[in-house]
Amino acid sequence: MAFPASFLDELSARNPIEDVVGQYVSLTRKSSNLFGLCPFHSEKTGSFSVAPEKGIYYCFGCHKGGGVVNFIMEIENLDYPDAVRFLAKRANMEVPEDESYRNRYKSQERLKNLCLEAARFFRSQLTTPEAQVARDYLNKRGLSIDTVKKFGLGYAPNAWSALKDAMSAKGFSWEEMIEVGLAVKHPTKNSVYDYFRNRLMFPIIDVRGNVIGFGGRVLDDSKPKYLNSPETVIFNKRRNLFALNEAKKSKEKFIILTEGYMDAIALHQYGFDCAVASLGTAFTEEHAQLLAKYTEKVILTYDGDEAGQSATRRAIPMLEKAGLTVKVLQMQGAKDPDEFLKTYGPDAFRSLLNKSENQAEYHLRSIQKKYDLTKDDQRVAFLKEAAKFIATLRNAVEREIYGHRAAEAAGVNPETIKIEVDKAYRRQEEIRRKKQETQDLSATQSRQPAYRGIRYDNVRSAMAEEGLLRMLYQEPSLFTQVHLTQEQFSSSLLGRAYLAFRTQQEEGREVSFSSLGEEFTKDEIAHLSSVLQKNRESVSEQALQDYIMVIHAEYQKRLPSGEAQLRALQERKKNAKGYGG
Ligand SMILES: [Zn+2]
Repeated sequence: MAFPASFLDELSARNPIEDVVGQYVSLTRKSSNLFGLCPFHSEKTGSFSVAPEKGIYYCFGCHKGGGVVNFIMEIENLDYPDAVRFLAKRANMEVPEDESYRNRYKSQERLKNLCLEAARFFRSQLTTPEAQVARDYLNKRGLSIDTVKKFGLGYAPNAWSALKDAMSAKGFSWEEMIEVGLAVKHPTKNSVYDYFRNRLMFPIIDVRGNVIGFGGRVLDDSKPKYLNSPETVIFNKRRNLFALNEAKKSKEKFIILTEGYMDAIALHQYGFDCAVASLGTAFTEEHAQLLAKYTEKVILTYDGDEAGQSATRRAIPMLEKAGLTVKVLQMQGAKDPDEFLKTYGPDAFRSLLNKSENQAEYHLRSIQKKYDLTKDDQRVAFLKEAAKFIATLRNAVEREIYGHRAAEAAGVNPETIKIEVDKAYRRQEEIRRKKQETQDLSATQSRQPAYRGIRYDNVRSAMAEEGLLRMLYQEPSLFTQVHLTQEQFSSSLLGRAYLAFRTQQEEGREVSFSSLGEEFTKDEIAHLSSVLQKNRESVSEQALQDYIMVIHAEYQKRLPSGEAQLRALQERKKNAKGYGG
């Protein structure tokens, strides 16, 4: 969905950032900027700043930042098009949307509405005499009335057309019911029938609060035990997690990932309001990325059986890849969190959470489980595998701790395993060193962006690129003196921002953050605002030339040699004509 540039320019002009933010945060002026308490993290002194001239907000505490559209996305929890619509409404502007998009949007809104109505219907059915079986089940599982309400649980009657009739009466078509998976086409008759029958119903709600699907649990012996809505245009199982809409509001610094709805619900009931569950599908990379938006740490509490453990092993690398710290809960005396909570209570569970194993402990223990350590040959094999793993740990203290632990488990002298670990470590270190050499050695960690997934490969060049962008953002007329191309930027993010701002300038528009489209992710926008909000010394010709020179020089180094010479020649010619005077 692309909105016309002229519309976005007007949108940001008619929604000054200080006014929009001012409706949520009380701001006081300190020199050219405004400051207030950050609405995105809890704090006592204001580290949240708004720079009205630059159209940027930025928090020095939690590093969130962006333009006015990003602010609305974050605080109202809307996606980009909806945030634009929100601001248009605020400024009494009409939103130009093309016909096909508008139609698709409308029909999806209708489908979400249908799911919401269905959830209401199921909920109302939970109080009928027929639903006694469902209420008995809830009692047996120990779910309180508050919990049932919080999750909007309901009952699908034991009938073929209860929901269908109710939704028809509300004006929804059979096609729409089929499309969201609430009804199934009859194989022979020209008719449809209810998909969920005689089941306890769990509405699945996305992070924005829309009902997008359902899970249904049987109340008798029929199969399958759990039935979920199929994938639909509004329900993508790979991108949604049960109860994340609740967990994202939690004050806990971590999210608990469980295997099923009942575990997640039980955890919430016992006060662990940061629990989520995957939706009857395997955990995916998209799930991991989704979680990374809301937390930095995930505690896995999958079942203790073989299936649960292998799911744990699969999930760990995906979560780590998304930049999350992963811990694994080791439960004893219960097969899942629900059972544990009932048997031992929330305090015991809390202390279990505090003791949850980090990835290294968990991994070492899974290696140990594969071997029978009473047999000599198996002990040798165990020590070999353990040493190889321990050598991957970068911290010497950690290697010592886990080395000791492995030695203890195998009943050997710690020295024995230490020799093995050291050997493996030296081998791996050599590989790492070679890799490192090819990277820019001048890169200092402190200059790296604070956002996951954004890295500078060439810090020297990136610092010059940041400075240049800052100067151009402040003084767009300088663009006429800069002849760099996007590819000469070492950071692809900064290069893209350069091009976007340059295009705005060339089209005679205001160079502004607010009218950047969806081509930048939330973290990218936040990083750019952290770069641009910095106040620099006065704009000087010399500083501009210095930045350009560094970017050029670093770019030359990246080129293959023959090509480098040719390019250098061309550049010198171009520069002589351009800013070189
Ligand atoms: Zn903050």
